[in-house]
Amino acid sequence: MKYIDEYRKKELILSVSEKLKAISKKEIVLMEVCGGHTMAIHRFGLTSLLPPTIRLISGPGCPVCVSSQHFIDMAMAYSKIPGVIITTYGDLIRVPGSSTSLERERANGSDVRIVYSVLESLEIAKNNPEKKVVFLGIGFETTAPLTAAAILQAKKENIPNFFVLSAHKVMPPVMKALVDEGVKIDGFIAPGHVSAITGTAIYEELASVCGLGVVVSGFEPVDMMQSVLMLTQQIESGIPKVEVQYQRVVHSDGNKVAQQVLKDVFELRDDSWRGLGIIPLSGLKIREELCAFDAEKQFTVDVPQSTEPRGCICGQILRGLKTPVDCPLFAKKCTPSDPVGACMVSGEGTCATYYKYRS
Ligand code: SF4
Repeated sequence: MKYIDEYRKKELILSVSEKLKAISKKEIVLMEVCGGHTMAIHRFGLTSLLPPTIRLISGPGCPVCVSSQHFIDMAMAYSKIPGVIITTYGDLIRVPGSSTSLERERANGSDVRIVYSVLESLEIAKNNPEKKVVFLGIGFETTAPLTAAAILQAKKENIPNFFVLSAHKVMPPVMKALVDEGVKIDGFIAPGHVSAITGTAIYEELASVCGLGVVVSGFEPVDMMQSVLMLTQQIESGIPKVEVQYQRVVHSDGNKVAQQVLKDVFELRDDSWRGLGIIPLSGLKIREELCAFDAEKQFTVDVPQSTEPRGCICGQILRGLKTPVDCPLFAKKCTPSDPVGACMVSGEGTCATYYKYRS
């Protein structure tokens, strides 16, 4: 707790705020890519401490939110296969698919189990050898190594009834896609936990080719304010670069062991993102030599054409083009207890965050 208090000190936050107000001249838009950052900004009311020249927008960094409607519908189709147990992180079961949700399928008799770690899925597979256990792999470079390690463990222990349906994604291509699409972004606040795995080189292209600064940030209010200050200094001086604010956790090389596990198990593929369409080389698929654990290779399911929830503007919110309050359904027809779209389901979703801290 003492450690966290260090990064929540009011006087420190206010002093960074004063520095920002003193140096900020240009009108700039900074995107915080990660849902954890969006939560910290709203929880601690940080936007009220920024000068009027700086606007923060939220990006596509919530794993549940960016998982495509087609992936949700596929998970539903797998859950209906006799003898299949679906294992998943909690939030995902509440995401409305085109016609139903995993939560409803569970109520209808499908075996859908919430796990807190992919290793629990391995245990379920071991304890239920007559069943087929399909783990729904979502998330970025932070969670993908755990899924990869579980697959290697299943191979080592010869667990033939463990499978992964991978919707794992990587961060840089979607950031670049937003810039290429013309979204007004002057700099990125990048997720610290991703860089703790990958290192910082993954963002170099954004700085050297796109001319945009990237600051890898921690998740406490002092971290966030310092990251905004670092980006503002870069922009005001006209020198975009990749910097690390979260130095107590992130090293420029990242975690080599986790990187190797990722490479051993996954390869890049074009992938579909909610509201953003297909982004080249932005997803992780299981390598051919490990296809025995790839649910997509081992089961054939018929998935009807997916449709997005009517009236939901998650896609524009994930692009940073709109905020939840621009959505006519926000806090009316769409609430965390009865969500219309994925961004209202996850605690890291922008709509859920706006709802929680709306007062
Ligand atoms: S408030 Fe609900 S319906 Fe509107 S964009 Fe957010 S998740 Fe979609």
